[in-house]
Amino acid sequence: MNYRVGLGFDAHRLVEGRDLMLGGVHIPYGRGLEGHSDGDALLHALTDALLGAVGAPDIGSLFPPGDDRWKQAPSRLFVEKAVETVGAKGYRVHQVDTVVIAEEPRLSGHFEAIRSNVAQLLSISMDDVGVKAKTTEGMGFPGRREGIAAQAIALVAKRVTP
Ligand code: MG
Repeated sequence: MNYRVGLGFDAHRLVEGRDLMLGGVHIPYGRGLEGHSDGDALLHALTDALLGAVGAPDIGSLFPPGDDRWKQAPSRLFVEKAVETVGAKGYRVHQVDTVVIAEEPRLSGHFEAIRSNVAQLLSISMDDVGVKAKTTEGMGFPGRREGIAAQAIALVAKRVTP
């Protein structure tokens, strides 16, 4: 097998009057992530990890923030396009791991729903999807509850014919 990995990161500002979407799951919280799309930082980081794994242009190049087609778009569209790109390069997604960096809200009760949703999006088993949450102990923008960040790593592989 020919293996490749990709890394993604994203951060969005927390604002009033928006639903909080993380990993494609609605998380009940007083505020949500600002963004042209639904602001789902976890799915954006994941999209970039997948694109990066096959050396494709990043999410901002594929889905320019100024483009009205992506206004309020559900971020699963970006992941779907990234999975398609991985497939077009002859690779298959094998495993992903992610971290959400947020002081609030507590996310552990939503891990299963997020893993299930991401697994479905990537057509992989839930066991191959990791989701963790960390605070920054009050430091920096996540600590001040100004925003939420996410990191993702993706492993893709293709069978090499001898
Ligand atoms: Mg983003």
